[in-house]
Amino acid sequence: MKLDVDVLRYLSKDDFRVLTAVEMGMRNHELVPSELVVRIASLKHGGTYKVLKNLLKYKLLHHDSSKYDGFRLTYLGYDFLAIKTLVNRGVFVAVGRQIGVGKESDIFEVAKEDGTILAMKLHRLGRTSFRAVKSKRDYLGHRNNYNWLYLSRLAALKEFAFMKALEEHGFPVPNAVDCNRHCVVMSLVQGYPLVQVKQLQNPDIVFETIIGLVVHLAEHGLIHCDFNEFNIMIDDDENVTMIDFPQMVSVSHRNAQMYFDRDVECIFKFFSKRFNLSFQEHTDEIDGSEVDTEEYDRPCFSSIAKCTGFLDKELSASGFTRKDQDEIEKFIEEGIEKDTGSDDEGTADEGRNSDEFDETNIKEFDSLQLLEQPERVNCDEKGKAEERQQFCE
Ligand code: ADP
Ligand code: MG
Repeated sequence: MKLDVDVLRYLSKDDFRVLTAVEMGMRNHELVPSELVVRIASLKHGGTYKVLKNLLKYKLLHHDSSKYDGFRLTYLGYDFLAIKTLVNRGVFVAVGRQIGVGKESDIFEVAKEDGTILAMKLHRLGRTSFRAVKSKRDYLGHRNNYNWLYLSRLAALKEFAFMKALEEHGFPVPNAVDCNRHCVVMSLVQGYPLVQVKQLQNPDIVFETIIGLVVHLAEHGLIHCDFNEFNIMIDDDENVTMIDFPQMVSVSHRNAQMYFDRDVECIFKFFSKRFNLSFQEHTDEIDGSEVDTEEYDRPCFSSIAKCTGFLDKELSASGFTRKDQDEIEKFIEEGIEKDTGSDDEGTADEGRNSDEFDETNIKEFDSLQLLEQPERVNCDEKGKAEERQQFCE
């Protein structure tokens, strides 16, 4: 998706105030009626309808009159609110090119004031599984605010919390910098997703490191659940970094064994196909007798000494609660159960990552300074009715 941050330059305080009002209204409205936006925004000099029109023009809002007349945020609108907040916090000053696109996320480079480049992941839960969102709405129906905004925010919060906790435990993950709404800012990993790597100096060492990570995670009570060549980054020195954590579950999950085995299987399959690592059983002669051996043993879930409680203790410290975990699991589970794992025919991440990304320069990096614009003069001379009429035209 195109993220034209230039628009940010032209947005006034009132624009952001009205955008935020729609966001607040969406906590309990699928579509926020304009009267409610007016009330929440309470612009000093009026003019909400004019602002709404402006926000529609920039596609930050969507107007829908199918069920009743109202507004909702678009992804872009939500992106802008998060970006604005993070810029105000001084996390970064500029947004650069897109470096990744997932089924349910977009990743951009962002720059700090000192020029350091970070990665910004915008979660888009529900982008491809919108039907799932709808079906889940039934049993999560008690929550009116159960929508993609909420889910994407939860996914970001979860990813941030896991990244931070994993980093503290010495796992090779990006440094979690900050998080707001559906947006996670992290250090930029040098290197490439493993799927793009055609050759390795030491495929066996890399393989053992990666399988070691799956086991080490389980020892800490966790399963990645999407551990494959798309979510493993590798640098020129063949160091490994794992990414993408919103779907992780605890080893006490009822399907833990299946998820663990699937993660392991993905890695075995990929290394066998791409780097010709041999996992075939073969017969060795040991002490004069023939013994069946395998070059690499598949780690056995049941024999791993697991330390549970990681989720509860450490993650809740980052504001991600067990309740949040349960709720997002309900949604994500459907997706991960459907995924068939890693092979050449198709994977969970298929299409996200290929060489084509190198050309994905949605926006060349520039030194765009996301500074606040002076407040715009309002059109309060116009009456509300007139504004509304204009807006509807
Ligand atoms: P999704 O959940 O949509 O799969 P990922 O977190 O896997 O999103 O990111 C998608 C792609 O974006 C990755 O495969 C990688 O190429 C790129 N990417 C993600 N995070 C980083 C990062 N911290 N540094 C560099 N590239 C990244
Ligand atoms: Mg991924």
